Amino acid sequence: MGKESMMRIPFSAPYTGQAEEEAVLAALRSGWVAPVGPQLDAFEQALCHRFGYQHALAVNSGTAALHLALVLAGVTKADRVLVGTMTFVAAGNAVRYVGGTPVFMDSDYQTWGLDAQLLDSYLTACTPRNKPKALIATYAYGLPIHIQDIASICYRHQVCLIEDAAEALGTYIEGVPAGGWGDFAILSFNGNKILTTGGGGALVCRNEHDHAKALKLATQAKEPADHYEHQVQGYNYRMSNVSAGLGLGQLSRFDEIISRKKMIAEQYDSCLGDLEWLQKAEVANGSVPNHWTNAYLIDKGAGVSPSQVLKVLARKNVEARRFWKPLHLQPLFKSAESVGGAVSLDLFERGICLPSGAGMDEKDVEWVVAALKSRV
Ligand SMILES: *Cc1c(COP(=O)(O)O)cnc(C)c1O
Repeated sequence: MGKESMMRIPFSAPYTGQAEEEAVLAALRSGWVAPVGPQLDAFEQALCHRFGYQHALAVNSGTAALHLALVLAGVTKADRVLVGTMTFVAAGNAVRYVGGTPVFMDSDYQTWGLDAQLLDSYLTACTPRNKPKALIATYAYGLPIHIQDIASICYRHQVCLIEDAAEALGTYIEGVPAGGWGDFAILSFNGNKILTTGGGGALVCRNEHDHAKALKLATQAKEPADHYEHQVQGYNYRMSNVSAGLGLGQLSRFDEIISRKKMIAEQYDSCLGDLEWLQKAEVANGSVPNHWTNAYLIDKGAGVSPSQVLKVLARKNVEARRFWKPLHLQPLFKSAESVGGAVSLDLFERGICLPSGAGMDEKDVEWVVAALKSRV
């Protein structure tokens, strides 16, 4: 077998090295092999410092952070929560964890995220009785969304805004980072995200009161006493100090990760620019994407489906992914109310994400491009 036939391009090639090894070792040597310790404090501080967040609580998954955000937003049984339908299942699940009722809302074509105009007209038509208590808006694939409009609409209608910035760490809109706009935001440090702790997440909040409340809830809600005293239901959601060590290592070279991602994106753009059947998302003026992944829409007239493209790529050992199936179309949420949905359905039927791990080099991208072009 020649070298070429041995190439294998996973969807997200891991990218860790000496900085991460040293940071994890430092965490082990600190003696804090627990969900508490110096690396955990330092990681939270570094996140706030690097991205200008006011408070960050590191937890063991992005999904846990979503759950905590909803609890802090005061969502309980029978409360309605708007969820941008073009998202990962975690947002819908978290609404159910607190007994809330999700209402799924469509995307717009420019950002693939929540349609701000639809949001405004929906909320304007709501009565105080049926007005949703909170909104979860996701940055799909790390791309900027119309978060300025979404934030002011939520403010005007008094709806708590939770940004799902799981994939958008390092994305900026008008100089403000994704996660810096809402009442709360969540980040994920899962293995495939732009910064990983090998599994983890964070809740970003605006004031110390919310931060302290979230910390208590994430650590089993123990009351201050010399015995185990509990008044409210808590969770075991804290991140471990060793994971935070890995996060510190990754954060120390976040610029390098972003610049590698950008190079991969630029190479895809220049090599795929001549393929008329593939379109990339438009990035609005004044925003900077983190280039987490490279997502494309297949032209309607192309006569090829995402599944077919995935198969062609798989034959060359390239692992691509389809877009999320919108949550309002999931059997899990078949009884849920939805607002619009045609745009997200179209995106689902035409979208593909190409492998974009920061561990990829120029040859890897060339391989993917050649595999894509081999279909015609
Ligand atoms: C990854 C992801 C999550 C969940 O994060 P976990 O850390 O895997 O729990 C939530 N929302 C979006 C958009 C994601 O991509």
